[in-house]
Amino acid sequence: MSLTNTLPTAELQALDAAHHMHPFTANGALGKKGARIITRAQGVRLTDSNGEELIDGMAGLWCVNIGYGREELAEAAARQMRELPFYNTFFQTSHVPALTLAARLAELAPGDLNHVFFAGSGSEANDTNIRLVRQYWALKGQPKRTTIIARRNGYHGSTMGGGSLGGMAAMHAQGGLPIPGIVHIDQPYWWGEGGEMTPEEFGITRARLLEKKILELGPENVAAFIAEPVQGAGGVIIPPDSYWPEVQRIVDQYGILLIADEVITGFGRLGHWFGSQSYGIRPHVMTIAKGLSSGYQPIGGSIVCDEVANTIAQDEFNHGYTYSGHPVAAAVALENLRILDEEAIITRVRNETAPYLAQAWARLADHPLVGEAVSRGMMASLALTPDKTRRAAFKADAGTAGYICREYSFGNNLVMRHVGDRMIIAPPLVISPTDIDELIARATKTLDQTLAHLHREGMMVAA
Ligand SMILES: *Cc1c(COP(=O)(O)O)cnc(C)c1O
Repeated sequence: MSLTNTLPTAELQALDAAHHMHPFTANGALGKKGARIITRAQGVRLTDSNGEELIDGMAGLWCVNIGYGREELAEAAARQMRELPFYNTFFQTSHVPALTLAARLAELAPGDLNHVFFAGSGSEANDTNIRLVRQYWALKGQPKRTTIIARRNGYHGSTMGGGSLGGMAAMHAQGGLPIPGIVHIDQPYWWGEGGEMTPEEFGITRARLLEKKILELGPENVAAFIAEPVQGAGGVIIPPDSYWPEVQRIVDQYGILLIADEVITGFGRLGHWFGSQSYGIRPHVMTIAKGLSSGYQPIGGSIVCDEVANTIAQDEFNHGYTYSGHPVAAAVALENLRILDEEAIITRVRNETAPYLAQAWARLADHPLVGEAVSRGMMASLALTPDKTRRAAFKADAGTAGYICREYSFGNNLVMRHVGDRMIIAPPLVISPTDIDELIARATKTLDQTLAHLHREGMMVAA
C-alpha cells in the first residue's frame, strides 16, 4: 500500500488542515470542510482516499497531457537519478538531458525559436522573460524600452514577476503587485464584454488597444507584449479569429517583442505542438511548462528566437535557477515528448478527439443555464447565465453560481473548475470519445442540478 493512504481519510484531512497551506485557497474554510485526498491515478481517472473514481477534466492543473500512469516516465526518472541526479549548468558545465531537451525543443518549435533557457515552472520562466527582454533592448542600445504590456485577466504565474504580468485583480490586491514597468490592456472576451459588436469587430477593437497603449507610452519605451494564445486561468477565453492577426500586425509595425505564454497551449493542447502554430503567430519568445513534462516533474522554460538569444549572448546574463534544466526533470520531459510524438497524440487531438469534444460540448449551449459553450482543441468553457438572450451576468456576486456548479460537479465525480461564473475543462489529451461522452453526461447532470438549485434559491436573477 502506498504511503499516501495508510490513514483513514478523516485523519489525513485533519493533518492537512493543521499543517498544509494550500495555494489559491481560503484555508480556514477548507480546513473545516476537509480537502478531498487524491491517492492515485490512471489514464484520465483519479482515485481518492475513499476509493471514489473521478474523471479528471482538468488534466491535473492543465498539465497531464499524456494522462496518468505512464511507466516509461517513471523509468526515465529512476534511470536518470541513478546516473546523474543533479548537476548545475551555471559554471561552464552542461549535461546530456538538458542539452538534448533544448535541441529537441528547438526542433519542435516553429521558425527560428532555437534556444532554450530552463526554469522550474511557468512563473519562473516568465520572470526570466522580464529580465530577458529588458536585457535584450539594453544590449541593442535602447535601454529605455522596459515597459511590458500584458492583459487584464491574463495569467502568467504567481511569483512577483509572473503575478505582475498577469492581470488578476484579486492577486494584485495582495502584496504590492504589479511591480513597476508592467501595464495592462483589456482582454478579447466577447461573450462577457463585447456588447453590441460582432465577435470579429470586437476582436479588432481589443487588439487595437495594444496599438493605443504603445502610442500612449511611446514605442521607444515598450519592450514587449505578453499574452496567452487562449487565456486559461482567466476562464478559457478563446479570442475572436480577428484578434491575433491584428496583434501580429501591431507587434510587427512597432517592432516590439511578442511573448506567447504557451504554458497551457504548448505541447498539443490546441491540436498543434504550440498554440502559436494554431493561430499562425510568430512570437520571439514562448513560455513553456506544464505539458512539457505532462506534470510528472516540475520544469519550465523560455524558447527564444535567434535574434534575441544571439544578442543576449553578447554579455553575461546575470540570471538563473539552481534547478534550471534539472537532469531528472529534463529526462522525464524528453520521454514525454517522445510519447506525444510516437503515439501521434497531438494529431489525434487535432483530427479526432478535439472535433468530437467540440461537437458534444457545443450542444451544452442548449441548456437553459448556459450562455455560450465554446472550445478549441482540448480546452473548453461555458458561461453560466440567468438570461442567455441578453448574455447577462448574475445579480449574485460573480463566482457564486460557478462555485455551486463546481460543487455539484465534484459530487458527480467530475473535476470541472469554475472561474467566476464560467465552467472550464482541459482534460488529458489522451481522453477517448467514450470518456468524453461520460464527461459530457456528468457535466449535463451537474448543470441540471445547478439550475434546480439556483431556481430553488431564487438566484436565476440577472444583474
Ligand atoms: C500555470 C501557468 C503559468 C504558471 O506556471 P507555474 O508552473 O504554475 O508557475 C504561467 N502561465 C500560464 C499561461 C499558466 O497557465
